[in-house]
Amino acid sequence: MTDQKATNITWHAHNVTTQDLERLHGHKGVTIWFTGLSASGKSTIANAVAAALHGRGMSTFVLDGDNIRHGLNKDLGFSPEDRVQNIRRIGEVAKLFTSAAVINCTAFISPYVADRKIARDLQPETFIEVYCKCEVDVCESRDPKGLYKKAKAGQIKEFTGVSAPYEAPERPEVLLDTGRMSVEACASAVIETLKSRGFVS
Ligand code: ADP
Repeated sequence: MTDQKATNITWHAHNVTTQDLERLHGHKGVTIWFTGLSASGKSTIANAVAAALHGRGMSTFVLDGDNIRHGLNKDLGFSPEDRVQNIRRIGEVAKLFTSAAVINCTAFISPYVADRKIARDLQPETFIEVYCKCEVDVCESRDPKGLYKKAKAGQIKEFTGVSAPYEAPERPEVLLDTGRMSVEACASAVIETLKSRGFVS
């Protein structure tokens, strides 16, 4: 965890509260945390879920690994320390989206159990972990960004599933067999879980 550095800072209450925003949007915020190997389908399914819910008039947003690394986390690499910091920041951003009553999907490899726990512990009541389970050879055969090829050639160091570990979730709220299920079936399974937990009616 990162220690508090600044002193003399005060938490301000907002005039427009989370409850006000929930009433405005017609639903609560929730973080749908997709985790899995590169090319396991996190972004694709996160976007399918967000699009389906947006189509029903809900407020959705996707926080995507590469996009965040272009901005907020452009100072971070892929060492274990930087990965921890990457996920810690995303966890905080996701929590902000939840408090703005937005259904937010995060699509990050997030390979370490401990880091995902940090993100979950920030908002335990509104955290849905979705494990995109896919064999590494299937991910490698998809390889939409050509990353496995580069990793195998030694051009990318510390690549999850090739030269860096991936710790699978033990009890995710949703387990998707993305090597066998269609994108539509995966998105539906996530939405069903949101319904059964009262986030979506
Ligand atoms: P990640 O975000 O995990 O790196 P992407 O969503 O960027 O993965 O890429 C997954 C690739 O696999 C895409 O090209 C997608 O079209 C393809 N794909 C094939 N079947 C599925 C599936 N069932 N679920 C998700 N993606 C799938």
